Amino acid sequence: MAEQQIENVVIVGSGPAAWSAAIYTARAELKPLVFEGAITEDNRQRGTLPLGQLALTTEVENFAGFPAGDLSGYFDTAFDERKAKELNSTHHKKGVSGPELMELMRQQAKNFGTRIVTDDIVSCDLSQRPFTLKTLGGKEVQAQAVIVATGARANYLGLPSEDKFKNMGVSACAVCDGALPRFRNKPLVVVGGGDSAMEEATFLTKFASTVYIVHRRDEFRASRIMAERALKNEKIEVKWNSVIDEVLGDDKNGVTGVRIRNSSDDSQTEELEAAGYFAAIGHTPNVDFLDGQVELKQNGYIQWTTPFRTNTSVEGVFAAGDVADDYYKQAITAAGSGCQAALDAERWLAEQE
Ligand code: NAP
Repeated sequence: MAEQQIENVVIVGSGPAAWSAAIYTARAELKPLVFEGAITEDNRQRGTLPLGQLALTTEVENFAGFPAGDLSGYFDTAFDERKAKELNSTHHKKGVSGPELMELMRQQAKNFGTRIVTDDIVSCDLSQRPFTLKTLGGKEVQAQAVIVATGARANYLGLPSEDKFKNMGVSACAVCDGALPRFRNKPLVVVGGGDSAMEEATFLTKFASTVYIVHRRDEFRASRIMAERALKNEKIEVKWNSVIDEVLGDDKNGVTGVRIRNSSDDSQTEELEAAGYFAAIGHTPNVDFLDGQVELKQNGYIQWTTPFRTNTSVEGVFAAGDVADDYYKQAITAAGSGCQAALDAERWLAEQE
């Protein structure tokens, strides 16, 4: 039987951190192997399909290098006539969408020789090197170094009506989706009582006519400063002691409102008209396959063990992006930490040899 090949570096994940790590490790001649995730109903339901959270969003306007809007005036003044003409013909389109950005990153990684497997890693043995990783499809792969870039998934309440209207008014990212035309000058609903809910609700007031915060208790979990900022905002109305009973809508218009229920008196319900519903009840990092072998922070995110590095508690295992970042949680910071993880892995592998 042929001896199993030992990979230099296996990257688990397929968001900006994973592709950025793949681009850098491929260019360092490490021949990375990426497990981008499996296309399964289970992953669809959980929001963990290949290409990650960005694949679930629409326009991305805050990723440097993809400016939105009409740039012809800028090109005309910043470049000579020939270059401006060329740029005007290629950059006619607005910004980039989340799915496009991910496809571009994936292709960029592929162009440098990254090999990609469309499967989940479901378990691993990190107790000895080379590390062993097992796929959902039942295959095993061995690696000298592993970069975990599996991201985090937004928590939803789990209502069928929430699922039905995803991308049709249901979102878990106000910063990504809030500026869409469907939300402008309309009432919107944010569910949750933490800092994310305060931040999302405050952000949405830029576009919405009213933002309802629906919270299950009579006090917020959010920090005082963020809670006060939200409470002071005239466009925000809080529905205390309230839970979402159902997201209301139809196939043509998507979300049209929510029905809320009083959390202390079950019989009291109220319907709120709204064009959007934003879940802000936290995120869950995708760490199940590690099965406790890598140290986690108290909130379940991977612990980076060395300041300004992507090292984890297991030597040779590095973490990048949202799976370890519970603070910035941005596409561009994830891409940055993917690059860091690639350089950390490359240097660590060089030291081993
Ligand atoms: P969080 O602090 O865990 O708050 C989650 C909120 O969702 C809580 O109010 C919780 O209600 C509610 N919730 C959870 N499950 C629910 C359910 N099934 N039904 C109804 N409500 C539910 O999460 P987060 O707001 O995403 O914040 C995560 C971390 O990031 C925090 O450490 C936060 O400080 C930080 N963060 C900081 C900033 C900032 O400083 N700019 C911004 C965003 C987030 P209960 O309160 O009743 O449990």
